[in-house]
Amino acid sequence: MSECLFCKIVAKEIPAEIVHETGRTLAFRDINPQAPTHVLVVPKQHHADAAALAKADDGLADDVLKTAHDVAVHEGVAEEGYRIVFNTGPGAGQTVFHVHAHVLGGRSLTWPPG
Ligand code: C5P
Repeated sequence: MSECLFCKIVAKEIPAEIVHETGRTLAFRDINPQAPTHVLVVPKQHHADAAALAKADDGLADDVLKTAHDVAVHEGVAEEGYRIVFNTGPGAGQTVFHVHAHVLGGRSLTWPPG
């Protein structure tokens, strides 16, 4: 997966503002934030999207979710409410095909999303 942008961030070959790291996950700030807190959480292992991550069936999806929640706590948005989004597939707006959870918070979030 040498051409994968987020694999390169995981490998620290491309800089990113890392806010949290575990053995199997990495969290870094989105370069184009859509909210005061906008952090991406990725598994270090490459999976193209949330569907592939779910199929892996090795607890990695749990790890991503736990890291996303830990990020929300550390960012101070957990109590007011925050959103975890997996855009899955081009039709849903996915542009980087290394699965990532968007953790969004720090402002009022409307529903439905666009
Ligand atoms: O869900 P989607 O695939 O569209 O999200 C990709 C996200 O990755 C975007 O929010 C974009 O701003 C972010 N990004 C980033 N750093 C990069 C390239 C993209 O944070 N170097």
